[in-house]
Amino acid sequence: MIKDFHYFALPIEVYFGVGESNRIKTILQEKGFTSVLVITTPEQEEDGVKLAQQLGSLVCDVYPKAVMHVPVEVANKAIEVAIEKKADCCLALGGGSTIGLAKAIALKTDLPIVAIPTTYAGSEMTTVYGLTENKIKTTGKDLKVLPKVVIYDPELSLTLPATISASSGMNAMAHAIEALYAKDKNPIISMLAIEAVKSLSQALPQIVKNPDDLTARKQATYGAWLAGICLGSVGMAIHHKICHTLGGTFDLPHAQAHAITLAYSIHYNRNADIEAMDRLGDALGVSNREHVGLAIYHLNQSLNIPLALKDIGLPEQGPSEVARIVCDNPYYNPRDYDYEELLDLLSKAYQGLPPVEDK
Ligand code: NAD
Repeated sequence: MIKDFHYFALPIEVYFGVGESNRIKTILQEKGFTSVLVITTPEQEEDGVKLAQQLGSLVCDVYPKAVMHVPVEVANKAIEVAIEKKADCCLALGGGSTIGLAKAIALKTDLPIVAIPTTYAGSEMTTVYGLTENKIKTTGKDLKVLPKVVIYDPELSLTLPATISASSGMNAMAHAIEALYAKDKNPIISMLAIEAVKSLSQALPQIVKNPDDLTARKQATYGAWLAGICLGSVGMAIHHKICHTLGGTFDLPHAQAHAITLAYSIHYNRNADIEAMDRLGDALGVSNREHVGLAIYHLNQSLNIPLALKDIGLPEQGPSEVARIVCDNPYYNPRDYDYEELLDLLSKAYQGLPPVEDK
């Protein structure tokens, strides 16, 4: 039986398809923008400059200084530039870091965002922004930071290296999975979440085998879009809180931290929401809830993603510090947790041991 529910369907204009990013000039003109600030990372500067050339006089500047986790100093400098250049739109070309910087600008200046995502992180579908100050990452929600237009062009992800594609796709997978057992879950978002899990689990191994496989890229982009809607529509749980802390406090690479930790978070929650976990098991082809976390662990293995948090830079005291920070600021989870339980989860993830005995 369908339970009563309530959620906000977010107003975003979406274009999806190979080559769709070529529409960008017309879209910006139709919206009446005349002073567009192109935002990207130092690594994607060349792409940002090319995009600016394509847009000609519509662009006021290219700002290629986005970095992961949006440090406040970086955000403040970018806000200054947007004001100084009299920008009337932020055009974000890149992954979550770039879109995160555009969101920080929008939060302060009310500038609209147009996003062309090039990873699978999903930030473009959410009202969530993050800022990192003194090694603590805080997040908030504001409709001002939600992009007005999002263009998904799978062709742009072809240059994303296979290893980053794999972990970025598992970051998307984490959004979809936590949506399944969200406090405010609902049948529409759960349906999208299952479709996202299936799309991503099929596409990512293909991409790792052949990063130029445009059909697989399209399927992963589709899964990432759906997972982004999940992230933007319902609340997440302890897994996301742990990963924010790993990123904000230890500057760990966001997508890899998500991919590694996901196997343990799911295993921890395996019996907390039986309906959700059974649906997840079905989508992943696993019949026993005890093995759902292990299936993610094996998927990571097959995608050549590192298996241990210690291998991506978490120091030895990391598990205890993260467990303490997470416990200091309690967050929803379908299963209760305390410091000892989190420490156990994080210690296993630190070592990269299978979440359950692997027979
Ligand atoms: P990222 O944006 O940092 O990108 C990783 C690297 O890949 C960067 O060097 C980038 O320039 C490069 N890159 C991106 N696309 C490329 C492409 N197509 N070809 C070649 N190189 C490419 O990584 P991410 O995982 O997308 O984003 C992580 C950040 O996003 C974190 O700060 C995280 O907190 C945030 N995030 C926020 C939300 C939200 O809703 N607010 C959601 C997800 C992630």
